[in-house]
Amino acid sequence: MAAWEANVRKVAPYTPGEQPGGAGVIKLNTNENPYPPAPAVLRALQALGADSLRKYPDPGAGILTEALAVHYGLSKQQVFVGVGSDDVLAMAFLAFFNSAKPILFPDITYSFYDVWAGLYRIPYERQPLDADFCIRTEDYCQECGGVILPNPNAPTGLEKPLSELEEIIKANPDVIVIIDEAYIDFGGESAVSLLPVYENLLVVQTFSKSRSLAGMRIGYAFGHEKLIRYLNDVKYSFNSYTMSAAALAAGTAAIRESSYYKETQQSIIRTRERAKGELRRLGFTFLDSRSNFIFASHPLCPARELFEALKKENIYVRYFPKPRIDNYLRITVGTDEEMEALFHFLERYLEAYAQGQEME
Ligand code: PMP
Repeated sequence: MAAWEANVRKVAPYTPGEQPGGAGVIKLNTNENPYPPAPAVLRALQALGADSLRKYPDPGAGILTEALAVHYGLSKQQVFVGVGSDDVLAMAFLAFFNSAKPILFPDITYSFYDVWAGLYRIPYERQPLDADFCIRTEDYCQECGGVILPNPNAPTGLEKPLSELEEIIKANPDVIVIIDEAYIDFGGESAVSLLPVYENLLVVQTFSKSRSLAGMRIGYAFGHEKLIRYLNDVKYSFNSYTMSAAALAAGTAAIRESSYYKETQQSIIRTRERAKGELRRLGFTFLDSRSNFIFASHPLCPARELFEALKKENIYVRYFPKPRIDNYLRITVGTDEEMEALFHFLERYLEAYAQGQEME
């Protein structure tokens, strides 16, 4: 090892899902929305003039924070925006998790949390989910440096009732509790309603899932004015211009098109519930997802094998080779046609698999 390497910050990075290109791919592996963004979003992007590209964007992201504040009934001072919720969460870890006590999050959850903790050298403890993959309230009601919980959780898709989250927020008045609501718009109840009561609560959401804008990279956080000020101080110490002119225009247009997005969200919820029926018919067991993905396991056929077989067929789902969940597939809810193609293949594959087993 060269001497300079002793002073390199070494981190174990997050591994994002594959982004396969090409025609004919059915992509159900990164929880993207299968529907296009609202037409007004594309029009807003086309209307961007040369001047808005030539100049630096508004560092305060004024039009977008204003639109979000109006839409959610908050003040502008309660809104922070960033380059996807990953950026918002990373800033929040840096701003709020500076205690010598460990921060708490589940053992099975979004796998970026321990990466940020590692990057910033934040001590952390993973709290095991119970046997049904539920987050246990009591695990988070103890002395700690902060709490981060996704609701619904990923990759389980399970929602924790808001009253239980409130218990956790109430039990931790001396630290910040972050609720990561990346998937809240697919039928969950948001913690935004608790903001007037709890100064220690930060709610983080994204345009990537329910607003079909993963490629534009827009996320946001809501919290007490003081929290947002601290977040902005960190952001301005890092990069003043996180939000491009394109992201500001697209995000603002998307917020104003809530009726379009209500419809696409409802379509996804309907497809998800139908998909649960199909999975049951095929013999899968799965968790009762309130998100845009389903976490499913087959009692006969190993998940890794199904994952590989699907990939050969150009159907991409997500597989995590990790303890407790290495026999599960995380399947993003696509369009009805995409889901039909998936189930059609699974039906044939599982039939052949069962016959093969019988012959052995
Ligand atoms: N939180 C959770 C729980 C997620 O699954 C994701 C998506 N990978 C994110 C945050 C980040 O999403 P984005 O940066 O696209 O907003």
